[in-house]
Parts: sequence; C-alpha cells; structure tokens
Amino acid sequence: MTSFALHGIGVSRGIAIGRAQLISHATLEVAHYTIPANRVDAEIERFSNALNEVQRELEALRGTLSADDAPAEVGAFIDVHWMILSDPTISETPRRIIAEQRCNAEWALTQQMNVLGGEFEEIEDPYLRERKADVVQVVERVLKRLLGKPGKIVPISAEQHTILVAHDLSPADIIQFKQHRFAAFLTDLGGVTSHTAIVARSLNVPAVVATHNARQLIRENELLIVDGTNNVVIVNPDKSVLAEYRLKQSELELERAKLKRLKSKAATTIDGEHVDLCANIELPEDLAEAIEVGADGVGLFRSEFLFLNRAGLPSEDEQFEAYRTVAQGMGRPVVIRTFDLGADKQKEGLDGLARVAPNPALGLRAVRFCLAEPKLFLTQLRAILRASRFGKVSILVPMLASVSEIDQTMDMLAQAKETLREQGVPFDPDISVGGMLEIPAAILAVSSFLHRLDFVSIGTNDLIQYTLAVDRSDDAVSHLYDPLHPAVLRLVSMAITAANRAKVPVAVCGEMAGEPRMTRMLLGMGLRNFSMHPAHLLTVKQRVLTTDLREITPIVARMRRSDDPGRLAALLDRLNA
Ligand code: PEP
Ligand code: MG
Repeated sequence: MTSFALHGIGVSRGIAIGRAQLISHATLEVAHYTIPANRVDAEIERFSNALNEVQRELEALRGTLSADDAPAEVGAFIDVHWMILSDPTISETPRRIIAEQRCNAEWALTQQMNVLGGEFEEIEDPYLRERKADVVQVVERVLKRLLGKPGKIVPISAEQHTILVAHDLSPADIIQFKQHRFAAFLTDLGGVTSHTAIVARSLNVPAVVATHNARQLIRENELLIVDGTNNVVIVNPDKSVLAEYRLKQSELELERAKLKRLKSKAATTIDGEHVDLCANIELPEDLAEAIEVGADGVGLFRSEFLFLNRAGLPSEDEQFEAYRTVAQGMGRPVVIRTFDLGADKQKEGLDGLARVAPNPALGLRAVRFCLAEPKLFLTQLRAILRASRFGKVSILVPMLASVSEIDQTMDMLAQAKETLREQGVPFDPDISVGGMLEIPAAILAVSSFLHRLDFVSIGTNDLIQYTLAVDRSDDAVSHLYDPLHPAVLRLVSMAITAANRAKVPVAVCGEMAGEPRMTRMLLGMGLRNFSMHPAHLLTVKQRVLTTDLREITPIVARMRRSDDPGRLAALLDRLNA
C-alpha cells in the first residue's frame, strides 16, 4: 500500500490515528462508464441485486422495529423508503436507461434521481416537496450497495478509532454524529469558519477540511493519520512515521493535562489586568465542557442549533427549558444569540428559507429572517425572557447592518414582554440586549449602534467573510479567507476602541477569539472579553497569563498603523515570540 499525504485546512487541532470510514453522498458525482453490449444484461442484474439487497435490508430493519416497540413514525419512515424503492420510477426506469445508454447502473440511477428531484421541486405542497430528501436517501442506499459499501454509521468501541471521510458534511450531519465516537473528520469541501468546521470543533476531535479529493483517494479501512494542527493527512503511513506521530500524540496529551491545572486560575495578565474568558456553545449539552474548563460564562449560545436536525419547530416551552437549563447550569452570565438561521444553516420547511436564495449569505439570514417571521421571533423572545428569571441572561442579535433592525427588534421585545405581563409570567424586565458586529457597515457606523445597545460582540467569522467578499463555506476561495488582512484588523480594532470609549462592553466571539496566536494582539487592541469554543479556553488563558500589556501595547499600536501584510505578520510573530 502506497503512503501519501493530503493537504487541507486543519479546522480542529490535534492528532488522530485510525481507520477510514467513507461516508458516501448520492449527490457526489458518480463515475460514468460505457458498458459493452454483451454486458448490459449483467449490469441490469447487478442493479436488480442491489435493489433486492436494500429491500431485504429495509424489511429486516422494519422487523427489528416492531420487536423494539419503536415509535410508529420510525416504522412509517421506513415504509416510505420501501415504497419509493418499489416504485417503477426507481426500480424500472434505471434498467431502461442502462439498456438504452449502455451506461453503468450507478450512473443510470443517479440520472433518474436528478430527474425525479427536479419534478419534486415543482410540487407546491411543501410536505411532498420535502420527500425529495427521502428519494435521495433511498438512492444513496442502493448506490452504496452497488459500490460494495453498505455504509451505515456504526458506533465504535473505545479501542478502535474511526476517521470519517466525506465529500461534505452539513452542520446537521455532524450534530448527528455527536452521539457516536469518532476519532477525526476529513472532508473535501469546507473552510476554517464554515459552520461545519465550527461544529466539528465542538466535538473536540481533529478535523481537516478542503482536502479536495480525500473522499476519492482514500479507501475504506485504510490507516490514516489526521494532523489537524499542521493541516495534513497521511494515508497508509509507514512504521517510522506512525511511531513519530504516536509520540507526538502522547506529548499533546501531556500538554493537555498540564493545561487542565489552569482551570480555576483567574485569567489575569502579568501586569494585573483581568480578562473574561467565556464559552461558545451550540446545545445545552455543550455546557458540561464549558464548566469543565472553568469558563466565566457563555458568551455565545448559538440557539439556531435547537432548530436543526428535527421535524417541526421547538415550541416556546421547549426553548424555555433549553435556555433555563443553560442559565441555571452555568450559574454565570449567559448570552443567548437569537437564531441565526439561513445561509449554511437551513431549516427545512420554514417559509422564508424554503426558496433557494440566489446568494444565501447575503440573503434572508439571522435577524433579517427573524424580522420577516415575527411569530417565530416572538416565540423565541418570550422563551428567553422567561428563562431570564433563572440566571443572568442577555440577548444577542446577529448580523445587524442597520440601526433600524435594532429598533424593530426592540419593538418586538417590548411586545414579547407585554404578552408575558398579561399572562402574569415573571421575567427580568431589564434584560440586556447586545448586537453582533459582523458586517463592516455596522462597524463603520458603530457609534449609532453603541447608542442603542447594552453590549456588542464582534463576530469575526462573518466579518472576514463580508469584508473580503469570501464565502466562508466555499473551499475554492478558502485561501483568500485571511483573518490578518489589514482591513479586517482595522475593523476589529475600530470596533473595540469605539466600544471602550463609549463604555459599552465589547467581546469577540468569532474563531479569532479562540486562536492563541491572536490573543495578545486582541489584548493590545483593548479587548478584555473573549468567547470561544471551550476546547481553546485554557490555551488562551495560558497566553493571557504570560502577557505583559506594557510590553505588547507598543507593538500592537504599530500593527494598527500598518497596511502591509508582510509587516503585520512579522509584528504578530514578535508579539508571540
Ligand atoms: C461569527 O460570525 O464570528 C460568529 C461568531 O457567528 P457564527 O460563526 O455563528 O456566524
Ligand atoms: Mg456570524
């Protein structure tokens, strides 16, 4: 077996050594080849066999369900798949395509899936339209059989290490994987701050994205080393490389154990300045990790994750329970971001999101979507208000571009408060409302925002995306996604300075806050509140503890004045020397 290396972008640090498990995707391009006339019948038979196997697989699954007393809808779901599989459009038409076009079965089936997909999109009824996803799932099952990879994801034992290799994973896919133990992730697509990467980090396993063709080059069960820190994947490593990485792995573990000792130490610089280090979470379950590293609070609860991976919407009560759990469990300040749906975090079946936006990142996303769907927004605001009685809760509004969006949000909040008052439900009437500064316009006109808000939080992930016009989830432009771009640094610095002057608390909650290389620069810009994935918190704390503001401030002042990327990089190196 030849050994080779693949390069990508490490989005979650650390080293994992394990066996590849390929995740196939029906939408992935399937190979297309011509079948000689005398092999057509055999190809049709190969297709029939795959269909029969999947049919048996579904029947077996159905059988185990009735024995398990599983909820009725799970059975119904399998029945729908069984029906799709038996429908002539799936079971017959591809046979005709194979015969007529003399093509391979995978190609025939995928072509037919695309035709059906187009027809489903024309359907007006949203329920039926969504069944397109079922067709894709059924086709995927058959494709896996045809390719000889009946792949269902199985939980692994502690000794065995499995590395998921996929063309792409959606944030929702990864959330699903949370229940299983995987050693690492690899994807062909993605960027550093794509939401997929952020969720991968939240699993605290090494991950490398944007490998371009890992999914094609790696075979099932091959031995892999994923080095998320150095952006590299080694396939079939030889003995000496393997030994070297095992050594590195144990060194890293030792380092992690040392960091753990910093948990209850206050984050104070050498010259005595205190810094708040908070955690970003996606679901109430993530709280445990935030507490484990001694976070000063939750600086960003990405509440939209409550909406993903589920049928229907979470009710007011369900949301209230989630927010209360976090507020009470943390016992320290918790910032709940109102949901940031849209762009790459699509929720099926929501009216405003159902159409395909021509440019989702610039479309009806985050606060824009909330204001367009007042019922949904009011439900969330009431749920947050109700939870505000159980801890120090604040509201954070994402993606503000104009102050009118704050005014409209405040009107909605007043309405939500009024409803609760009428119902006699208690809440904190003085709940703080903050805004995310993640669109350059909001920072360029920041004073009007600071007048209206109790605090601000800089979302560097989107700020970089919108400043540099680089889609954060598009691997084709990920090399242009540059947190150290002079324009980005200038905007971050402007926002911190203006907020400090106006005495409005300011935090950074984008990935920049969890990047230890950036800690001193941000401190030098005047930042005293960082919110990041808990996995980075102790490393950042270590940086804070070893920083003397008197030494770094003059270097950061020079960074602020510079527009030259080379000089900026050199000054950053000096800061971290
Ligand atoms: C950001 O944009 O920096 C941010 C923190 O929000 P998200 O990554 O969820 O868009
Ligand atoms: Mg954002």
